[in-house]
Amino acid sequence: MNEEIKKELAETFKGEISNTQEDIKEASRDTSLFTRTPSLITYPTDVDDLATLVKTIRKAKERDNTLSISVTARSGGTDMSGGPLTTSVVASFTKHMNHVIEVGDNYAITEPGVYYRDFEKETLKKGILLPSYPASREICAMGGIVANNSGGERTLAYGKTQKYVEELEVVLSDGSITTFKALTNTELEEKKKLDTLEGDIYRKMDILITDNMDVIEKHKPKVSKNSAGYAIWSIRDKDTHTFNLAKLICGSQGTLALWSKAKLGLVVPKPHRAMLVIFLTKMDILPEIVQRVLTQNPESFESYDDKTFTLAVKFLPEMLKQMGLAKATRLGIDFIPEMEMVAVGGVPKMILMAEFAEETIEEADAKANKAREALSDLNLQTKIEKNEKESEKYWIVRRESFSLLRKNLHGLYASPFIDDFVVPPETYPEFFPKLNKLLAVYKDHFIYTIAGHVGNGNFHIIPLMNIAKAENRKIVLELAPKVYALVISYGGTTTGEHNDGIIRTPYLPLLFGEKMEELFKTTKQIFDPINIFNPGKKVGGTFDDIERDMLRSNT
Ligand SMILES: Cc1cc2nc3c(=O)[nH]c(=O)nc-3n(C[C@H](O)[C@H](O)[C@H](O)COP(=O)(O)OP(=O)(O)OC[C@H]3O[C@@H](n4cnc5c(N)ncnc54)[C@H](O)[C@@H]3O)c2cc1C
Repeated sequence: MNEEIKKELAETFKGEISNTQEDIKEASRDTSLFTRTPSLITYPTDVDDLATLVKTIRKAKERDNTLSISVTARSGGTDMSGGPLTTSVVASFTKHMNHVIEVGDNYAITEPGVYYRDFEKETLKKGILLPSYPASREICAMGGIVANNSGGERTLAYGKTQKYVEELEVVLSDGSITTFKALTNTELEEKKKLDTLEGDIYRKMDILITDNMDVIEKHKPKVSKNSAGYAIWSIRDKDTHTFNLAKLICGSQGTLALWSKAKLGLVVPKPHRAMLVIFLTKMDILPEIVQRVLTQNPESFESYDDKTFTLAVKFLPEMLKQMGLAKATRLGIDFIPEMEMVAVGGVPKMILMAEFAEETIEEADAKANKAREALSDLNLQTKIEKNEKESEKYWIVRRESFSLLRKNLHGLYASPFIDDFVVPPETYPEFFPKLNKLLAVYKDHFIYTIAGHVGNGNFHIIPLMNIAKAENRKIVLELAPKVYALVISYGGTTTGEHNDGIIRTPYLPLLFGEKMEELFKTTKQIFDPINIFNPGKKVGGTFDDIERDMLRSNT
């Protein structure tokens, strides 16, 4: 089949097509617990190339519907859920489709293969940025930021990527090219008249939303961030009375359409920051602290636990090595108090970082002080860092924790399977003891670190375990349903930003219920009736997929 596809593509496809061992190996992994070996890697040069690829795959599937041929998008390949993994054809974007096309006064137009670090360099030339950038900002690309509906440290103040996606040029499952953007009612009615797949999508999605308005409203996630399921609740904007399918494509992990160009709204970041650092020794007052700090509107409110802290100090030399001599020396000195804490066993249970951003340093500092005053009766150890240089070490530990673990734990694998749930912050006092009880059962099998967006109730728990052992792999399917059932019982969601992929797709019925699951299936059917876009993600993924494709070694 590969040879047949290669032959057909050779005539019209301008980019490279590869099945070298090196390219296959690279595309067989992301940062999840999984591996899948693709059959072919393609590197489209532009949207026409991408359309040619989709048409070729579609034709092959139409010739033989039993064929398990499909196309899965890949940008930075940093997904934690298995989203870009496939046994079939990969469309890889970072090689050619990696241009920032335009930066306006409050927007940018970009291709998917642009790394975020390069995107931001361009947008900052105009003093603007995408405030939903993820912690993986140095290694991920725009393709996954949009397709996962990523969020990050500034999401508390600014929201997630979906909010900033204005328009998406996409290739649909018949290989046609269109642009999804906000449509007025009149424009929507015009689109519905089209005798094409696009017209069909507009007609059917309009009916699906209209007929199921109550179910959708009832089941849409109530927490402040979510990447689970299809965001059918976001298509209609009640305030502007518009209909925008770009909001649905955002977060759909390349299962409905492949995007080739995005217009993203951007913001002017506030120039000055001050950080209130809170060293927490007991967890029961966490919700009270969160509530009080949030009244001062921090731009970000992040956290990491004692294990992250201790590992960061342990691997400090490795971390500093990447940073150049001057910065490494300064940070090495900055970290001396932390090294002392670890040496004498005085590590706090959790470190909370509330950062306040304002037009002047005085205003930012005043806000941090106000937040500190609001906590004064709680007897906490706190510290105010008055500028970004002073707060940098906290950000380094917070942002680098997962990368650190992945690189340095020989014989153990940083295993994301309960890595991204969200619960309402007011439930912390009841939720965390119950969660700890569930995790304690496995204390002989793994240690774990918790870091996250404490202000949003979004936590990243990463168990560190030897996944070469079958008994440990079994835990993935044993513990996750318990944690997710608990999260759901407190009104939470299974993923705030990392998305469903292989690891969480089978839990969507548990999270959303049968009726919504049916609507998700219908949505997939409307966009991709012959299932050629990233099958098994969002719809159709099984627990067997998880078991079969889990890594068998720690490297
Ligand atoms: C250390 C670390 C920290 C992280 N921190 C965060 C965080 O703070 N917040 C967060 O949200 N995530 C985080 N992640 C997860 C991940 O980095 C992000 O979701 C990131 O946005 C993925 O981007 P990518 O380009 O690497 O996507 P990829 O891994 O290439 O793909 C992700 C998904 O998007 C699809 N896709 C890619 N390009 C397209 C396209 N053109 N059209 C359609 N579908 C497409 C893929 O098929 C896949 O399903 C982190 C990961 C790591 C390793």
